[in-house]
Amino acid sequence: MSDLWLTGALALWVGLVFLLERLAVAQTPPADNRRRILRNIGLGLIALTAAPLLLTLTGRIAGGVEPLVPLDALGPIGALLVQLLILDIWTYGMHRAYHEISFLWRFHAPHHLDDHLDASSAFRFHFGEILISAAARLIPALAFGIDAATLLLFEAILTANAVFHHSNIRLPERFEKALSYLIVTPSIHWMHHHKKQVDTDSNYTAILSVWDRLFGSRNPKPRTIGMPIGVEGEHDRSFGKLLLYPFRKTD
Ligand SMILES: [Zn+2]
Repeated sequence: MSDLWLTGALALWVGLVFLLERLAVAQTPPADNRRRILRNIGLGLIALTAAPLLLTLTGRIAGGVEPLVPLDALGPIGALLVQLLILDIWTYGMHRAYHEISFLWRFHAPHHLDDHLDASSAFRFHFGEILISAAARLIPALAFGIDAATLLLFEAILTANAVFHHSNIRLPERFEKALSYLIVTPSIHWMHHHKKQVDTDSNYTAILSVWDRLFGSRNPKPRTIGMPIGVEGEHDRSFGKLLLYPFRKTD
């Protein structure tokens, strides 16, 4: 699958979600929403430029080394599916680490300082988190022989799902509930952005919802309209302050 095809499909998906957020809005956006979206796009442009380059580098490094666990016996489709599953579990583990290790939280916090959620939140990541995540993916890539094309395909699927589960779309309750048994829906992921830390520290999974159930981090509460979004005891920052956030002194 070419990078151009992936980029085009992703752009169409983002456009569709953006439109649906306006046709069926779940939570009324804040008054300064336009400024918020611009801030998210600013961080997103850096992330979207850095991520493909870094993941291509990760894949090229892994591609030049004999994998610890070759998956050739599974055939090309079987190996691809297993590699995508491994990357999804890895992403769950990394996301949990970003919350549980204070050094990593510094880089993930700018994503959570957003005090409203919509499709633009899916691109709001500090470049430090992009760098750390791409470097950490060397571990599964080296272990299971995951090449650059597979890393980029996974990133596209991950981004498409992130755009959906951050979105401010009001979905039919029964449809969302049924879908939540398979993938992360807005109701699941919005709880992860709840301002109360006990709720923030749950629902880490990014694509398949099974990992939270399997690893005991599933929050059974659904999102409620008007619930506070953000980081407990914190407030959102300007674009410049978000870039500097990981490097600030805490005392
Ligand atoms: Zn998080």
